[in-house]
Amino acid sequence: MSQPVSISPQEAKALAVQFGFDAAGIARPHSPALPTWVRSVLVGMQATLDEAYDYEMFIEYDGRRKWHKPIYTLLESLAFRLAEALRERGLRAMALTYEDSLALIDLKRAAVEAGLGILGKNNVVVTRRYGPRVRFGAVFVDAGWPADGKLLDYYCSSCTLCWKACPTKALGPWGFMRERCIAEFAPAPAMAVLQDQMEHHPTPHTRLQCTACLTACPIGSKLPTNFYRDVRRE
Ligand code: SF4
Ligand code: SF4
Repeated sequence: MSQPVSISPQEAKALAVQFGFDAAGIARPHSPALPTWVRSVLVGMQATLDEAYDYEMFIEYDGRRKWHKPIYTLLESLAFRLAEALRERGLRAMALTYEDSLALIDLKRAAVEAGLGILGKNNVVVTRRYGPRVRFGAVFVDAGWPADGKLLDYYCSSCTLCWKACPTKALGPWGFMRERCIAEFAPAPAMAVLQDQMEHHPTPHTRLQCTACLTACPIGSKLPTNFYRDVRRE
């Protein structure tokens, strides 16, 4: 039997911000892959205004490269600390890991349903303040909190700058064609070759994948990269 709920949804979201997320919202669990005890999803958002958040590095083992993105480690550690704090307050809570993220939940959908942003024409979540320069983490909880719900104001201007910026026409009036995206995690062999040609390698062990559809978006683009640091100081 689950413990009595000892924290309100407002307190849980405030706790998420206290632990380091820039914003948080609540969504209903929409995936049948989630454990049956999960009744709410606390989605945390991290602003990633600096290009450095998109850098990846690899380790090579047995002739194979394993890529790793530090922002995902950051999101996981924030979610783990938040889950621990919620457990201390009497809830059952489990942090989302990035190994599980595709299998357990559609994080984009959860972020939209938690009211953290809208799904833009660039097929990613666009927030009102930072545009698409954000990443999400999540904690699953057994409290039946009300979901924040989708935002009613669709503020993506449909300017299509994101479509125009896409070098492979993965985005357009046809929607998003994953197999054409040069940031795809599991590319087909021909796409893997193209990715290798188009990726930026600041050092031999790091890469910066395509983010053209994100950087082209005018929403939040005027924020300087030190804005984030200044927000944290506030
Ligand atoms: S990441 Fe690059 S290739 Fe993929 S949709 Fe965006 S602009 Fe197009
Ligand atoms: S670039 Fe324009 S169309 Fe694309 S997501 Fe941003 S506001 Fe929407």
